[in-house]
Amino acid sequence: MRAVVTCECCGHRQAIARQIVRPELFNLVCHSCEGVLRVEVTVGDLQAAQHATGKKTQPVAWV
Ligand SMILES: [Zn+2]
Repeated sequence: MRAVVTCECCGHRQAIARQIVRPELFNLVCHSCEGVLRVEVTVGDLQAAQHATGKKTQPVAWV
């Protein structure tokens, strides 16, 4: 599944280009303000996305 990350600095939303299938921690550079976003995907995030409970985990949203 794919994630959309909202920048904490400018609010720009950007999709992660690759699929995320396991818990991981990575950095993403905002395309708008070039701030570095630290994104942490947990097991809980993945389970919530798979079960589509409607619960949104900020700042990562699943699409
Ligand atoms: Zn930004």
